Amino acid sequence: MTKHTKSHTYITEILHHQGEQHFPCNAVSPPIFQTSIFCFDSYEAFQAALADEASHFLYSRGNNPTVNLCEEKLAALEHAEQAKLVTSGVSAAALAVLSQVKSGDHAIIVEDSYSWTKYLFETYLQRFNVSYTFVDGSKIEDFEKTVQPNTKLIYLESPATFTFKLQNLREVAVFARKNGIKTIIDNTWATPFFQNPIDYGIDIVIHSASKYIGGNSDIISGVIAGSKKDITHIFNTEFLPLGPVPDPMQAWLILRNLRTLHIRMPVHYANALALASFLEKHPAVETVLYPFLPSFNQYELAQSQMRGGSGLFSFRLKTRNLSAIKTLTNRLRYFKRAVSWGGYESLVFPAAVKYADTDKIPDDRISLIRLHAGIEEKEMLLEDLEQALNSL
Ligand SMILES: *Cc1c(COP(=O)(O)O)cnc(C)c1O
Repeated sequence: MTKHTKSHTYITEILHHQGEQHFPCNAVSPPIFQTSIFCFDSYEAFQAALADEASHFLYSRGNNPTVNLCEEKLAALEHAEQAKLVTSGVSAAALAVLSQVKSGDHAIIVEDSYSWTKYLFETYLQRFNVSYTFVDGSKIEDFEKTVQPNTKLIYLESPATFTFKLQNLREVAVFARKNGIKTIIDNTWATPFFQNPIDYGIDIVIHSASKYIGGNSDIISGVIAGSKKDITHIFNTEFLPLGPVPDPMQAWLILRNLRTLHIRMPVHYANALALASFLEKHPAVETVLYPFLPSFNQYELAQSQMRGGSGLFSFRLKTRNLSAIKTLTNRLRYFKRAVSWGGYESLVFPAAVKYADTDKIPDDRISLIRLHAGIEEKEMLLEDLEQALNSL
């Protein structure tokens, strides 16, 4: 594994060169090893592979060369010793969590974390007698107050999507290490282009690669990155028995899409900042939640632990009138109405759409609208948003 430090490595050295020296026939694009099994020249070689699957090609439920190349690049991007690609972001979160807790343990989780991550703690892990406490996480005291003698895990998501609350990663890492607690962070929003939690002492980073790492709204995938020890443990005790195996073609699509990560992310950032700044000044808007707006209440923290922001943010309209929310959503021409984010395209997701029209929608939800700024020309997006808002 090549040692990677940000000051000495160009990002395109990782994205375009790392691990790409010896392809068959001098192919430029990586081959797709669409094979389930690998064969051996001898009994002895076969025996050696069976004894240590983590470091051999034996069966593609374990290692596969196309998948491993993708993992090598993702590890380097996250300043991690090793990474494991899995079938989805939820399986990345589940495997990382399961690797760190056993019956009788307690975990602390940020309350605004991804809904299926919360479900894992609230519903699934209850069967295995793992207890948990949800915390706001904006202050280190939130963790200090809730720690118990059996706390084994702190699960972070910074920033959280929808509320965009941050945790102070340096402080949480110091606190956790002092107490012998492992830390996991969902780094999907910032991507390794803008934030490297391992540099601050966080143990394990997970991603939904269905977002910016895939970047084209054409794959579902996930990543777990960390120390060789932690990833090998996850490989042997969670990945092999549970089997969320990424397909070689899926890994290849990520390899292809990763080549433009450094081109895409600054555009998402510039577009999000332009849209957020525009919205903040619009008379119909109550608040805008984007960590890189100077008005954001954790702006300094955002600047101290991220190099920039991605394209996802939310805003709240002054009105609480559902038909105005519907009109705005329907009037947008270039923002597609869809879940998820992280692709090339701009999206709109009003929080109210999760509720039936007959439901009583909570006041903090009804006028909350999440936007994803894609990589279109920002003027086109600004004009679209303006005409939709002016229709209210
Ligand atoms: C989408 C998402 C996930 C889940 O990832 P999938 O690839 O959809 O399984 C986890 N965390 C965050 C922050 C996400 O946005």
